[in-house]
Amino acid sequence: MTNLNQALFDRASLTSPGGVNSPVRAFRSVGGTPRFIKRAQGAYMWDENDTRYIDYVGSWGPAIVGHAHPEVVSAVQEAATQGLGFGAPTRAEVEMAELLCTMLPSMAQVRLVSSGTEATMSAIRLARGFTGRDLLIKFEGCYHGHSDSLLVKAGSGLLTLGNPSSKGVPVGVSNNTLVLPYNDVPALKTLFAEKGDQIAAVILEPIAGNMNFVRASFEFMNALRDLCTEHGVVLIIDEVMTGFRVGLQCAQGLYGIQADITTLGKVIGGGMPVAAFGGRADIMAHMAPLGGVYQAGTLSGNPVAVAAGYTTMKLIQAPGFYENLRAKGAALLDGLTHAAHAAGVPLSTELEGGMFGIFFSEQVPKSFADVMASRVDLFPAFFHGMLDEGVYLAPSAFEAGFISAAHTDDDVAQTIDCAKRAFARIANQ
Ligand code: PMP
Repeated sequence: MTNLNQALFDRASLTSPGGVNSPVRAFRSVGGTPRFIKRAQGAYMWDENDTRYIDYVGSWGPAIVGHAHPEVVSAVQEAATQGLGFGAPTRAEVEMAELLCTMLPSMAQVRLVSSGTEATMSAIRLARGFTGRDLLIKFEGCYHGHSDSLLVKAGSGLLTLGNPSSKGVPVGVSNNTLVLPYNDVPALKTLFAEKGDQIAAVILEPIAGNMNFVRASFEFMNALRDLCTEHGVVLIIDEVMTGFRVGLQCAQGLYGIQADITTLGKVIGGGMPVAAFGGRADIMAHMAPLGGVYQAGTLSGNPVAVAAGYTTMKLIQAPGFYENLRAKGAALLDGLTHAAHAAGVPLSTELEGGMFGIFFSEQVPKSFADVMASRVDLFPAFFHGMLDEGVYLAPSAFEAGFISAAHTDDDVAQTIDCAKRAFARIANQ
């Protein structure tokens, strides 16, 4: 039988660099042929060969209510009949902004954009415009999209390809980005003591999901909040991945900390291109057309995309929604841990809401260095063992996993069963 994934990949490679529109999709670090997805429903995806997969990527986070949820699809269809976009304000954008500002206490005002990259890039420009300072602090292994300032020691696809900084970023730009180790309070204090009055912003993933899954410690988050306040530095909490994925209050709610600016994406678009940045009213007042910081977008607040996002945001407010996600995630991780240990494979796991991490290490990593010290060499064989049995994991050891409300107990049990065989395959490596 012709492998239609391979045939499409061959064709795609002629007209697209690497055959894909986003690097990690190319399976470079795990090898093999990317699956070309024909359709998805609930917890499942089907590729061009009509093979079904239980999906733990969820479109890299957005599919929290499951793929193609009927209410989301019908909201999109309804919006589309009214026109695909106007480049003028709409009622739906007002309702979406009101919803976001109500749900996130640190967000007095918000601007909608179309990708997480746009959200973080704009948040940094705003922080620089607001403070009149240039320096930006980020943390090793955190990924915040692909704008120039942020492609320094970053995670996600850059780690997967083994090159955490990108070519093509001018030295003049990267010089203004200072990189510190994640969860390192003394390093943070030293840098603030030296350069506190030159720093415009600190940006971080509160639970880093682009070097697998590494939580910020409470101590680290508190120190960060205090130092930023003390030195007039804008604290940007990048919740593109964690926002409404780890819980209704987002990660900052779990830490009891308020960002000055929060960036959102993924879940708030429900699978369509919606992202956002927003925060303190005095900071947001610097945005054009009110203030001097420019930012704009032809497709920003697109009505069809907002319909998907808004409906998803309503569905996640159902009572018990996150408890259910958490219970399924915990059952999955418990089962995987038992299966790995029974096979003699080292495994530790992390879970928050519907976001999880699986590490080939005895202990959960606390930093980028810890992640790199785990047995990432075991991942490709594990990944393919699972894929061969119909379980779709992110094709990289450096990405978090996602579970949705559509995953059933049976899906979880099947996944664990597949993992038993996959662990047996790698046990002696
Ligand atoms: N910030 C974080 C924390 C992310 O996880 C991502 C994407 N994985 C981005 C920003 C960039 O978002 P996008 O891919 O939509 O540009």
